[in-house]
Amino acid sequence: MAAPWRDVVRDAAAVREAAAVAVDAALLAGGLMRTGEQPHASDVVNYAPFTLLPSTVPRALFEQAYAVQQDFNLLVDAISQNKEFLEQTLASTIKVDDFTAQLFRIYMQVLEEGLAQTVFLGINRSDYMFDCELDGTAALRQIEINTIAASFGGLTSRTADVHRLVLKVLGKTEEASNLLPNNPAKGLALGIAKAWELYGSQRAVVMFLVEEIQRNIFDQRCVENELWNRNIRVIRRRFRDVFEQGSLDASRRLYMDGQEVAVVYYREGYVPQNYDQQNWEARLLLERSRAVKCPDIATQLAGTKKVQQELSRPGTLEKLLPGCPEAIARVRATFAGLYSLDEGEEGDRIAATAIADPDRFVLKPQREGGGNNLYGEELKQVLEKIKDSPERTSYILMDKIKPQPALNYLLRAHSPLQVSECVSELGIFGVYVRQGQELVLNQAAGHLLRTKAIEYADGGVAAGVAVLDTPYLV
Ligand code: ADP
Ligand code: MG
Repeated sequence: MAAPWRDVVRDAAAVREAAAVAVDAALLAGGLMRTGEQPHASDVVNYAPFTLLPSTVPRALFEQAYAVQQDFNLLVDAISQNKEFLEQTLASTIKVDDFTAQLFRIYMQVLEEGLAQTVFLGINRSDYMFDCELDGTAALRQIEINTIAASFGGLTSRTADVHRLVLKVLGKTEEASNLLPNNPAKGLALGIAKAWELYGSQRAVVMFLVEEIQRNIFDQRCVENELWNRNIRVIRRRFRDVFEQGSLDASRRLYMDGQEVAVVYYREGYVPQNYDQQNWEARLLLERSRAVKCPDIATQLAGTKKVQQELSRPGTLEKLLPGCPEAIARVRATFAGLYSLDEGEEGDRIAATAIADPDRFVLKPQREGGGNNLYGEELKQVLEKIKDSPERTSYILMDKIKPQPALNYLLRAHSPLQVSECVSELGIFGVYVRQGQELVLNQAAGHLLRTKAIEYADGGVAAGVAVLDTPYLV
């Protein structure tokens, strides 16, 4: 058990009582999701899954993750403006990965035409796990950085309130007061509002580009409401709506059924299943427009696994962030081992190493959203099959992070209350706004802790594997 709660957790009756309080508190606080059975309805909802207890996180690593966030914002922004780097880095990937190739085609097409967009807004979430080193200490290791549709910045603030109450119910009043305030949705909305303001049209709206099935709508509503509080009008539309009703005027201003759109905030568009031919056309229309896209297509490409792997190559960060040795050192200190599987000797060698010792690695395709990575025996089988084919280059290899598990209870609708061995992943939200070449906003906007049972190698909250959590700093 997370050490501070060891005593209370042995008391089964106390745990049952606390769990009942916790679930009702989550519902009251608005920690909600639509159900799998009725994903279009808001009249039948349930609580978003969460841990009964906050998980311990080493304070030094938590602070390290916050301290490097502005550097990651700068880095993503620099990559998004570096055509040569994106072209070179993704050259091998786009030969074999159709999805990345299609994004890349749109990227090149809008560059050729010349960008109409002059204000840029990035909202990302850098995710980490705490690797257990040989000497027993924990180290912060980046899992990935999400540059599109990074979620749970809204619901996570509700989880902290619930955990504060749970700790009080369990007689841990002092510990309850140690839980940090956290509201990423406010910071995200601040970035969107700044971009909206710089776009410079009072009448223009912010458009949330949303999925057909919107189970996580309440998380998005948290950000929406922050914008309404600032008297900024928000509309929600799907790619299909953009295809049918979107248009550009002569100066490439974007209109949706007669309303000018200042900012397009994507909570969609990050996996191949989000696109059919019409949706790709809608995406192209949005990218060609003057509207601030969050993210623009270049920034989405900056978040690919292939780019992440390339960043770990000696000398790459120095080229991307010249004159910033301290930022580079902070960024690099979070990197795990990352390896290219491009054709050639280097790729051959690491592929052979991974086949011989698959438990040391994770095999990652260019996908988002959880459930796509390969581990262990499956990693070995797939690598053996593709090791001599160009398909290999659509993947990267990464050192597997091995955190120290801790006991907790995962509260999930329709599931029995039982103790599980768990590991956690910490995400830090970052927001930045650039006008032309001037960075006008760059900050960390809050955090997200997700926890899952160790039986699952992969997967996030939306994928039904991880649950929301709150860090308890030790
Ligand atoms: P996605 O874009 O699908 O979210 P991630 O790279 O975040 O891809 O991987 C999904 C999940 O797999 C993570 O949330 C984490 O639980 C697990 N994972 C990813 N990389 C590693 C790694 N190097 N070591 C251990 N677990 C990992
Ligand atoms: Mg992830």
